[in-house]
Amino acid sequence: MTVPPLVLEIEGLTQQFGGFMALSDVSLSLRPGEVVGLLGPNGAGKTTLIDAVSGFNRITRGRVSLGEDDITTWSPHRRSRAGVTRSFQSLELFDDLTVEENLLVASDKHDARAYVTDLVRPGRPVMSDTVVAAVTELRLAGLLGRHPVELSYGDRRLVAIARAVAGRPSVLLLDEPAAGLDTTERLELGHLIRRLADDWGIAVLLIEHDVPMVLRTADRVVVLDFGRIIAEGTPEAIKHNAAVHAAYLGHSAQS
Ligand code: ADP
Repeated sequence: MTVPPLVLEIEGLTQQFGGFMALSDVSLSLRPGEVVGLLGPNGAGKTTLIDAVSGFNRITRGRVSLGEDDITTWSPHRRSRAGVTRSFQSLELFDDLTVEENLLVASDKHDARAYVTDLVRPGRPVMSDTVVAAVTELRLAGLLGRHPVELSYGDRRLVAIARAVAGRPSVLLLDEPAAGLDTTERLELGHLIRRLADDWGIAVLLIEHDVPMVLRTADRVVVLDFGRIIAEGTPEAIKHNAAVHAAYLGHSAQS
């Protein structure tokens, strides 16, 4: 079997804020269909890394490539159109649309406003297959007719995740997607992440404080501490890595 080419490649990424080095010479790559977990204590640089990949920070040094393209200087919007999608910790749903309309609007990559107009014409809008998977795995079908304000915090987060995968991105950056979810929802979210990777070849970079969730969902885990990669390997190898335990995991990886 041939190994698929890299979809995302981060090389020698350094991010300085004034005199503070948030990331030092970080290199990391993802292949299609691969889930990479990013662990590390608070302040390790995880969100800064996602900011750099999604284009929210001008990086100090290094290079970010999407397939054959050097996207280091591309705007966040251009990256997103090229297939790099990010879920935010804050919720970005349209409050005046139903859950279904929110998902339909996101399913169309072109002009969201035109699509809202199209909603009055029955039969036109179609949910993308990734959204259908998200609605099924996250059990959102019963919520489609509701408005976001009527939903619990956890359900709004799940809808926001479904919305983020609507355009079937090639790279999905998830920043603490399980925050605020209960145990069952976390399991379902883990299943959805695996399906997105396995069925559609989406490369997922998963930042999550829920270490057991990362260890059971990811193919590979990268551990950051003080802006540097201190360990990288399979979930099983990371579980038993002494440096990782010292820096971060403690006993939580044993569970
Ligand atoms: P993590 O996501 O691992 O908790 P962050 O990437 O949010 O860590 O932050 C890494 C470090 O960089 C922290 O010390 C944070 O205070 C600092 N930092 C992040 N963004 C900025 C910024 N825009 N200006 C200055 N310092 C920042």
